[in-house]
Amino acid sequence: IEMSHDLAFRDALTGLPGRRALEESLRHVGRPYTLAMVDVDHFKRFNDTYGHDAGDEALRMVGSELSRIEMGGKAFRYGGEEFTLLFAGKTVDEVAEAIEDVRKRLAERPFTIRDENRPKRKPKKSARIKSKRAPSTAVTVSIGVAASLQRTDTAKEVIKTADERLYNAKKAGRNRVVF
Ligand code: GH3
Ligand code: MG
Ligand code: MG
Repeated sequence: IEMSHDLAFRDALTGLPGRRALEESLRHVGRPYTLAMVDVDHFKRFNDTYGHDAGDEALRMVGSELSRIEMGGKAFRYGGEEFTLLFAGKTVDEVAEAIEDVRKRLAERPFTIRDENRPKRKPKKSARIKSKRAPSTAVTVSIGVAASLQRTDTAKEVIKTADERLYNAKKAGRNRVVF
């Protein structure tokens, strides 16, 4: 039973709880709470440039960075290249800095593209000198943040507001948080 629960609620790629786990958490969360929708920037282009496997690895890296969010936040993989951060019992003011920090950490963390043809054994010195360094790139995210303060706010409304702010973050140039 525990295994099938895990399959349904945990995302296989990132190891994070998935959308169903988020829905479950939102059913039980009190007020206030703050929710952030996180979307990887230009991820279609990333896949087109570096390949789908590198894309998968980038998503694992984003997930692992998001899971280190401070202020009691919990990270979920919402689906595709979208993640959600949920802060139970917290207002936007209380978590704003933690969200800004995680965005910045991601943007400043170089992501190394693994060379598919990299030899398994250590190459000879002469070959090492000739070989180019593995290329690295930045993976950035845009974030929209919304809070539920009143009992009457539904999770659907809060997610919708966070999504609208995420859209505004994209329009404003990406790699930013809109509160
Ligand atoms: P924007 O900055 O506006 O968000 O642009 P975008 O390219 O990130 O947005 P778009 O929605 O056009 O593309 C999302 C891409 O994410 C397309 C899809 O192939 C990719 N993607 C979704 N899930 C996965 C996954 O599990 N692995 C990989 N490698 N790619 C994924
Ligand atoms: Mg998206
Ligand atoms: Mg995207």
